[in-house]
Amino acid sequence: MHGQMSELAPHKYTVTGSIRAAYGARVAEPSSPPTEASTMSTTQNDIKSPGSVLVVEDEVTVAEVVGKYLRREGYETRIVHDGQSALDVLKSEGADLVVLDLMLPVVDGLEVCRQMRANGDATPVIMLTAKDMESDVVLGLGIGADDYMGKPFSPAELVARVKAVLRRGQAESNPSGPTLTAGDLKISVVSRTVLRGDESIELTAKEFDLLVHLASHPGQVFSRDQLLDQVWDYSYIGDTSTVTVHVRRLRLKVEPDPERPRHIKTVWGVGYKFDN
Ligand code: CA
Repeated sequence: MHGQMSELAPHKYTVTGSIRAAYGARVAEPSSPPTEASTMSTTQNDIKSPGSVLVVEDEVTVAEVVGKYLRREGYETRIVHDGQSALDVLKSEGADLVVLDLMLPVVDGLEVCRQMRANGDATPVIMLTAKDMESDVVLGLGIGADDYMGKPFSPAELVARVKAVLRRGQAESNPSGPTLTAGDLKISVVSRTVLRGDESIELTAKEFDLLVHLASHPGQVFSRDQLLDQVWDYSYIGDTSTVTVHVRRLRLKVEPDPERPRHIKTVWGVGYKFDN
């Protein structure tokens, strides 16, 4: 263990140069590993690219593997290794999506995301973050990241997330209105429907309102009183046990394992919060 820890210098979030270390055994699994030759030809031919992805990652090995997987799926991929270069590329050329590492030299990932949004740049962002950095994840989503992946991650799953986020972006420009996504939950705010995977979930009006309220403020802790006030509105005369009951029912319907909720979390002594 001591040897491994020292390899993680200079900071604990650095993935070492070894691909196996970064991705475990998963990176070796694909039967046809991506090759530079086949992926380059995709972008050079007239085949329409599904989009352009800017990969911002200072760990060169990780960046290259991610780039190869994306190119194999046809994405035009550009790699930069620091936050300032990312902002420069976005300003000059733009991208359809940004894969943004949190820990970056010069300008870190959160600051890149913050500056993008401050500049009115709505390009979707998938943030890469160490698994133990929940607070940064919440902060990242709060300042406008669209999704995140904890390191170490499977590059194949990252590609799937890229596809999903781009698809969601297209859906949002449709008249069906904004969609909140958390894990395999899809909440259509306007049509008031909830899907888990392909399965439609039936909610009462209040359950739906409560879910939307929590899910649109990921990471924010609400007390039962606040929820009663904000979801049930001023005219409702009731007590906070109403909230408790609704949360329990909501968990039974939307949580894969209601006993160990993944999304609607209890914050002991305070209330509830929604985790994506
Ligand atoms: Ca990094």
